[in-house]
Amino acid sequence: MALFVQKYGGSSVADAACMRRVAQRIQDTRKAGNQVVVVVSAMGDTTDNLIGLARQVHPEPDEREMDSLLATGEMASSAILTMALHALGVKAISMTGQQAGIKVDGIHLKAKIQEINPRRIHHHLDQGCVVVVAGFQGMNSSEDIATLGRGGSDTTAVALAAALKADRCQILKDVDGVFTANPRVVPDARKLDEITYDEMLELASAGSEVLQSRAVEFAKNYGVVLEVMSSFEVKPGTLVREEVEEMEQVIIRGIAADKNQAKATLLGVPDTPGVAARIFKELAAANINVDMIVQNVSAAGITDVSFTVAKDDIAKTRRVIEPLVKEIRAAGLNFDPDIAKVSIVGVGMKSHSGVAYRMFDVLATRHINIEMISTSEIKISVVIRAGEADEAVRSLHGAFNLSVPPRKSPARRRPPARTKSRK
Ligand code: ASP
Ligand code: MG
Repeated sequence: MALFVQKYGGSSVADAACMRRVAQRIQDTRKAGNQVVVVVSAMGDTTDNLIGLARQVHPEPDEREMDSLLATGEMASSAILTMALHALGVKAISMTGQQAGIKVDGIHLKAKIQEINPRRIHHHLDQGCVVVVAGFQGMNSSEDIATLGRGGSDTTAVALAAALKADRCQILKDVDGVFTANPRVVPDARKLDEITYDEMLELASAGSEVLQSRAVEFAKNYGVVLEVMSSFEVKPGTLVREEVEEMEQVIIRGIAADKNQAKATLLGVPDTPGVAARIFKELAAANINVDMIVQNVSAAGITDVSFTVAKDDIAKTRRVIEPLVKEIRAAGLNFDPDIAKVSIVGVGMKSHSGVAYRMFDVLATRHINIEMISTSEIKISVVIRAGEADEAVRSLHGAFNLSVPPRKSPARRRPPARTKSRK
């Protein structure tokens, strides 16, 4: 008997009809002779609505209370789906993250799974039950509920698949899989049959909302093969897995845009040793994730330092950095929320040169100004004006021919992948 972990996202369990449909699909998987552990997200826009509600009573709600509030969305889903399974005559039981044995670290709203004790899950699986786990949450060492960050149910699913040594981890969504770009922006975006962990990781952190990046990291570390697929139709989705040689022949696998970032700039910073450490120490202590960082060449011993943070972290960043402005004798601090980060990703960049030039050239011909650039071995990201993001994604998708499937060439023997990027 195989063990499947199936995760259903918010729009797949948005209302009673959706719940019944998902229950049917789980029953089919069960009838095919498999054990099933299900992970659910909150129904539809529940999480956003709860956040909105909290902000109506407090501009910056306490993070512990926020976690207690948000976790209820997934708890409700898991109980309702379990009832829908019962209605079909399927033995099933719901569990909160805590009941499922999920232990997390103490950081509220961004908790990380530390350990899973699947004792109770195993017990109920052995009894022939489908176990429906509330995603996105766990219990920390103070026995408080903590959530795993937006999209965190993906991580719950992957972590459970690893802990239970499941045969498959399926992420069922309202899309057919991972696409070369967001199909709402690029109508001829193409569904990928497969993608490497590293590419998926880069796309996820570049703003693709298909999978939470923590989930991909987890899958990579534990070798969990993920299948991202439609929850509405039964058809193959996208496999996320370890790189094989042939995959390096594709230069660009996908494009992502992130409009949830803001650019913070510290103006007139004295160019002396220790200043950058001082700034980023404060941000780290406040658990603020910084993505891109740019420091300009200094003129007369003075420079500007820009970095990007999540829009949600603007208030917190201001609170942490403002006192520093005086201390390090900087001239000021400003925020620009009107930016987007556009990234192209592909393992083939490791062995092809001129990719950066092609990207910048496409943007130049559209008169799109690049404000920041950062690269990794398999990714190039630029910060541009938010209003130009869709156009940038569409033109890059066209220029790199991403709607055309790569030709399958017979696997060749190749030297091991180089570690230096040639970009
Ligand atoms: N409900 C949470 C969110 O909307 C977690 C999840 O869906 O995975 O971010
Ligand atoms: Mg959701």
